[in-house]
Amino acid sequence: MDFHQIPSISYILKEIKRNDINVPHDLCVLISQREVEIAREAIRSGKNITKDKIIENIKIKLNFLNKSVLKRVINATGIIIHTNLGRSPLNDSVAKEVAEIATNYSNLEYDLFNNKRGRRDLLIRDILIALTGSEDATVVNNNAAAVYITLNTLLNKKEVLISRSELIEIGGSFRIPDVITSSGAILKEVGTTNKTHLRDYENNISELTGAIMKVHQSNFYQEGFVQSVKMEELSNLARKKNILFFEDLGSGCLIDLRKYGLNYEPTVQESIQKGTDIVSFSGDKLLGAGQCGIILGKSKLIERIRKNPLMRVLRVDKMTLCALEGTLRLYLDKRYEEIPVYRMLAKTIDEMIQDAKYIISNVKNKNLTLEIFESEGRLGGGSTPRSFFKTIGIGIKHKILSTKDIETFLTRRSIPIIGRVLDDFYFLDMKTVYSKELDFILQALSEMS
Ligand SMILES: *Cc1c(COP(=O)(O)O)cnc(C)c1O
Repeated sequence: MDFHQIPSISYILKEIKRNDINVPHDLCVLISQREVEIAREAIRSGKNITKDKIIENIKIKLNFLNKSVLKRVINATGIIIHTNLGRSPLNDSVAKEVAEIATNYSNLEYDLFNNKRGRRDLLIRDILIALTGSEDATVVNNNAAAVYITLNTLLNKKEVLISRSELIEIGGSFRIPDVITSSGAILKEVGTTNKTHLRDYENNISELTGAIMKVHQSNFYQEGFVQSVKMEELSNLARKKNILFFEDLGSGCLIDLRKYGLNYEPTVQESIQKGTDIVSFSGDKLLGAGQCGIILGKSKLIERIRKNPLMRVLRVDKMTLCALEGTLRLYLDKRYEEIPVYRMLAKTIDEMIQDAKYIISNVKNKNLTLEIFESEGRLGGGSTPRSFFKTIGIGIKHKILSTKDIETFLTRRSIPIIGRVLDDFYFLDMKTVYSKELDFILQALSEMS
């Protein structure tokens, strides 16, 4: 027991001031009290802990709080839609429009033609219709919300048929069976894990059935003795039996990914052409906008969803709508590669080699060994789980620091750099790095003593 090692809060605050840490007073007090409590607990359980160590821990924590805690980072993982790193980044000029809308008043709910109250989700309805060929469209907070409000509005207390191979978990606790159940719909599993036939759906349709639901197997794939039912067949069956056909598409892919060397990902347009009554997808995966969920489909169904009181609970903010509109306009103009996700997909091996060489030839640090490596990147964000693409990056070794130390150094920079451990190296993949970020990496590596 060595409680006298625990410094007083006023002593700690004085120390912090001396160290030029620029964190608001109330945050300093909170972090100091919490750290002192942790130290007290450690001493109680017999650990040795010194005053200097306590102060050091507080300083590290406060350093994280020096600037905003939600920070820009450099994605050098080679995973383009990285859920931990905020999924897809926005195009710069779209982001400027968002800033304009955020810092001014807007017509979010004001109808400028009729000079009366308007509806926010109607603003971009026509853009979505023009792009996808659907009858109607609305937007909610994310795709989980889109699935939830669709089921809750159209399928409450009704059975929803879904193949056992599509009862998926997306991660972060989104599980299709749980969402269906909590929405008020009744889950009716059909088929088996590997094979589902048309008759499996047919034999389970009764007067309780409200819909056939198809969930895109976004983050895994099945191989071997597998079979599923074609979209057209499901849509015909649904029509014949007078029930709905709803697809949760996951990633909102609007263009053919094969031209980027990836496996084909079913597109939104295709889902509508093949006869879905309702289709939902995310705004911040392949679409490349901000977090939102888009619901497309038959007007009379979308109109019912719009009238659900949950719409108010799940509605999107003006900044989200603005980011979505700006991004969708890039699709309308076919300026796909101005959307960062597609710009990165299009980044060539030569461009990546050039970037790596630029960094390697300009870093000034005798302790470092830097090598150009080939590696594999992924689209990520629960899209095209089977597709890997060749990438180029920089393998980093340090005379004294371990790969773990390198990682800590890079992630504690004011603009953290996130790569990964690759064998004995720490690896920075150039596929997902913007040209404007090369000098930050260069500087970080030069300062890694
Ligand atoms: C990603 C995904 C979701 C969840 O979407 P969020 O936008 O993260 O809420 C739901 N279903 C499928 C099939 C997905 O891939």
